[in-house]
Amino acid sequence: MIAAEDIRRPPLGHFTRPSRGRGRERVAVTAWRYALAMPELPEVESVRRQLDPALRGRQIVKVWSDVQRRFLQPERLAGHTVLAVGRRGKFLICPLDGQLELIMHLGMTGVLHFGLADAYTRARLTLDDGRELVFRDVRRFGGLAVVTAGVYDALPTLARLGPEPLSDEFDPERFARQLAATHAPVKPYLLTQRPVAGVGNIYADEALWLARIHPASRRVGRRRALDLHAAIREVLEQAIAREGTTFRDYRMVNGDSGRNASFLIAYGQAGLPCPRCGTPLKKIVLGGRGTTFCPACQRH
Ligand SMILES: [Zn+2]
Repeated sequence: MIAAEDIRRPPLGHFTRPSRGRGRERVAVTAWRYALAMPELPEVESVRRQLDPALRGRQIVKVWSDVQRRFLQPERLAGHTVLAVGRRGKFLICPLDGQLELIMHLGMTGVLHFGLADAYTRARLTLDDGRELVFRDVRRFGGLAVVTAGVYDALPTLARLGPEPLSDEFDPERFARQLAATHAPVKPYLLTQRPVAGVGNIYADEALWLARIHPASRRVGRRRALDLHAAIREVLEQAIAREGTTFRDYRMVNGDSGRNASFLIAYGQAGLPCPRCGTPLKKIVLGGRGTTFCPACQRH
């Protein structure tokens, strides 16, 4: 156990929590707390940035795949060339020649790598340069689909995905109107991916803390919605710059994991003092998801 007062806090306004002095204990706590975390936008974006130069322009000459509930026609990949590796929310989207798209979702434990296959390998794509892209997925929540470009009937979550948070399409005024119109508590509403794509449990907790909004609030007015819009962008940009948050299963293509875990303020930090006001952060279950927030300075 780490007593809350043992954690040295960074100066206010800085809002990062680098581990100093007690780094080893911090790592142990981190590993346990993030065991159930899933890859979100920054993690998938970090994978995309490594995958794009490795796949772009390469022809897929051979495909092997296990039968998986979330796999759709992987055999159609054979003979097609990858034009690029893109992303929408937490989906990797690779346009192929012949008006096709390869869509991959890491689910909870999905990892893409160019190493050796093992018992948890669900798909192997052999490239024309002899390398093999391995889709490894212990829990089998990951997905791989080949579809006609832009036709997402078989992928309803992707079809209904909200705007990309770091693009101009994520319009602050429209976001404010959506929050004003919904009767849902704000955090579960964010997690639907409808108002904005790619924000999951980790970055919802972080953004709501930054914007001082209680995660169960059903009354987010225009001004607070604009604050939340800016906070979502800020936490995602910072996490991407650190190549995502490290937890049990997330790995980039090169096998590394991200550096964002030690910078988290709210997510997984229950019991530690809020860096703004010193009140111990509280954990509740909201919409079935563990949610950490400051009961004093995040308002309903
Ligand atoms: Zn506080």
